[in-house]
Amino acid sequence: AILVSRRVKSRRKWNRVVGVLKELEEGCSTPVGRLRQIVDAMVVEMHAGLASEGGSKLKMLLTFIDKLPDGNEEGTYYALDLGGTNFRVLRVQLGGKESKIMGHKVESQPIPQHLMTSTSEDLFDFIASTLKEFVEREGDDYTVQLDRRRELGFTFSFPVKQLSVSSGVLIKWTKGFSIEDLVGKDVAECLQQALTKKGLHMRVAVLVNDTVGTLAVGHYDDDDTVAAVIIGTGTNACYVEQTDAIIKCQGLLTNSGGMVVNMEWGNFWSSHLPRTSYDMDLDADSPNPNDQAFEKMISGMYLGDIVRRVILRMAQESDILGDVPPRLTVPFILSTPLMAAMHEDESSDLTEVSRILKDTFEIDDVPLKGRKVIVRVCDVVTRRAARLVAAGIVGILKKIGRDGSGGVTGGRSKSIGEPSNKVRRTVVAIEGSLYSSYNMFREYLNEAVAEILGEEVAQHVVLKVTEDGPGIGAALLAAAYSSSNVASDN
Ligand code: BGC
Ligand code: MG
Repeated sequence: AILVSRRVKSRRKWNRVVGVLKELEEGCSTPVGRLRQIVDAMVVEMHAGLASEGGSKLKMLLTFIDKLPDGNEEGTYYALDLGGTNFRVLRVQLGGKESKIMGHKVESQPIPQHLMTSTSEDLFDFIASTLKEFVEREGDDYTVQLDRRRELGFTFSFPVKQLSVSSGVLIKWTKGFSIEDLVGKDVAECLQQALTKKGLHMRVAVLVNDTVGTLAVGHYDDDDTVAAVIIGTGTNACYVEQTDAIIKCQGLLTNSGGMVVNMEWGNFWSSHLPRTSYDMDLDADSPNPNDQAFEKMISGMYLGDIVRRVILRMAQESDILGDVPPRLTVPFILSTPLMAAMHEDESSDLTEVSRILKDTFEIDDVPLKGRKVIVRVCDVVTRRAARLVAAGIVGILKKIGRDGSGGVTGGRSKSIGEPSNKVRRTVVAIEGSLYSSYNMFREYLNEAVAEILGEEVAQHVVLKVTEDGPGIGAALLAAAYSSSNVASDN
């Protein structure tokens, strides 16, 4: 009798695991009808964010970038890329006259954890020293006064209120960064001061978001590129908007063509979003509660932790993992790459899943059916994220009249920001490890774009992976907006 009751009890516990999974699946479900509601909500919020400052949670930030590099840029430019997990320094050589990038060198290193919550002085000293070492290794000497200062593009991937192409103040931190004394300050000026202090004779020619750098590279390679999306540690998008649609600064902008708008879509919010109790708990425990809700359902900083929270709940409600393993309660202990590796474990007995559960949580002997459930959890969380990005992308296409609602015809774009409601070949540049290195994520995203738009329209939409877009793009923009170019334009 004891044996039987124990078996019944364990079956009941297993039912709880299945129950938690079922509830998760329902909470995260994204049928195409719901995705279309999210597309429409995105469009509404884009309009609201363009209409007035603070009109929407979508900030729709001006970039003052009103021309994109065209291939005629020439010379050697440097770039710094700061804002996710890694910090990059780049040197890019441009040949001018149709010739493409002649060569570039990138050095990447993880951002030391302590700097993410230190002071702005520490952060910029680190950046300037790293740049100086790099410059010296490259054999250039910009510590001496040259006839012309070197120009530098600075990619700073946080919400910035731009004052010009080369200056702007930090609005707030995201992605776990928190250096309070920098909020409200001009980040380009802080960098410029640190460079001068280190004796580097360089000028910050442009200050750009990573999405904007990615758009610049995308457009340099293919001038049908109209938008760029980042899906890495954080997520965001930018696109080319017609200047007269940016109602909040009419009169301020003289150029009548287009301008790149940094959406900051990580902060998008709509009641149509499939939000679960795990998302709310994660938000409450995060360094920036009530902020970046969309980002927290999508990007690399968070996906692994959503999965951890679900597994924890399963462990609490059943005994499939024995007593609740203490490490399962540690925030961010399960990184998104590890989660992806579990998700993509193709072995029949899920050996990779066993290994990761052991290494990460010190959990042994999870039965195969339990491991299968965990893979399923990864799938549900990733699929929802990828489909939400797809809805965001279609939202942009709809806003600029490239979602096919105006009828389907061919043709090519002419100038940036040119309005049209016909479907033309449309390229969206994408950067970030979730799309470039996580196959399941990429497949779910592509599939959802086709589902929302329909195959016929989706054929005209190309999602193109760029590499080192944020950094190389900043160098290209530094060239396009360098003092010599600006002078010769006038
Ligand atoms: C930031 C954006 C950035 C994105 C991707 C977000 O957290 O707010 O400015 O573009 O991450 O790096
Ligand atoms: Mg980055």
